[in-house]
Amino acid sequence: MLIDGHGRKVTYLRVSVTERCNFRCQYCMPEKPFSWVPKENLLSFDELFLFVKRAMDEGINKIRITGGEPLLREDLDYFIGLIHAHNPDVDLAMTTNGYLLAEAAERLKRAGLKRLNISLDSLRPDRAYKIAQKDVLTKVLMGIDKAMEVGLKIKLNMVPLQGINDDEILDILEFGRECGIKVRFIEYMENRHANEALRGMHGKAILERIKKRYTIHALGREGTSPSFNYRIEENGYEFGLIDPHKHDFCESCNRIRLTAEGYLIPCLYFDEAKSIAEYVKRGDVEAAAEVLAQVLRDKPEKNRWSDEMFKDDISARAFYETGG
Ligand code: SAM
Ligand code: SF4
Ligand code: SF4
Repeated sequence: MLIDGHGRKVTYLRVSVTERCNFRCQYCMPEKPFSWVPKENLLSFDELFLFVKRAMDEGINKIRITGGEPLLREDLDYFIGLIHAHNPDVDLAMTTNGYLLAEAAERLKRAGLKRLNISLDSLRPDRAYKIAQKDVLTKVLMGIDKAMEVGLKIKLNMVPLQGINDDEILDILEFGRECGIKVRFIEYMENRHANEALRGMHGKAILERIKKRYTIHALGREGTSPSFNYRIEENGYEFGLIDPHKHDFCESCNRIRLTAEGYLIPCLYFDEAKSIAEYVKRGDVEAAAEVLAQVLRDKPEKNRWSDEMFKDDISARAFYETGG
């Protein structure tokens, strides 16, 4: 069992398989980063799996593959297959922008992927273009269709932005309801890589928009997930809200992150990270497990958002590096 220095049980590993992306979402990566991690610095899937396998043996029972855009990495189904073969009961999920999903969905499902979170910020082609800075909507919708067809469980993520897509909150909600897919609204989280002019919406304002049409009932948090669930009285549809500006989820934090380069990141909002790269490259899984133990011992109790000295600070680490 993996327990951190504050007594929290760690059962959830998020693996970012690449920081690269085929979108340039304004809230995440509006311009191509000055330099990408050179491809030769990325760990291979066999190297990543060496660590992931050990982490599963020590108590990780939920794994999310993310990025950048994870579907840009070739042979992702091979990696998923390795994880699934080692433990078919692991809750194996992926977060994707959906652009390459139509071609990949069937292979991913066959390899053992169970769940998908797909980002969908707009249902209007011009808006989707404006946010992702690319003509993306048709292919994303095809990806959602295909993933439903092959039987993957799906959630949709929307980041509402003032003056950009905030008038589509109800449209995305109705789309999710018609497709039988849960929508989760995510507060925009300020970070140094985003377009500076962006203004997000706080959870309360998002709920106000929904209340203009519906009566909603708060249901509660989904286990240790940061998402708070609501039910619409008129039709029974349930949606989620992730509102880190109001709630931190640190008390029940059960997660750590691994990057494509082999950095273990104990907390989304801290810059400290420790590398397991040299160990997994030479097959020394014991040394990698020792780094994991150190990272867990040093895992911060909470993010620094509430500290006075960090009030004006915003995350320096890019979401495309950590996978959000
Ligand atoms: N490329 C994939 C995608 O977009 O789904 C996976 C990686 S992306 C970093 C993971 C999630 O983080 C997406 O749902 C995206 O909307 C969210 N995200 C990225 N930047 C964000 C920000 N500044 N605030 C809130 N959510 C953000
Ligand atoms: Fe790429 Fe996802 Fe970031 Fe958009 S949110 S730029 S799709 S990594
Ligand atoms: Fe966990 Fe850090 Fe996120 Fe808090 S901010 S929930 S400690 S990763």
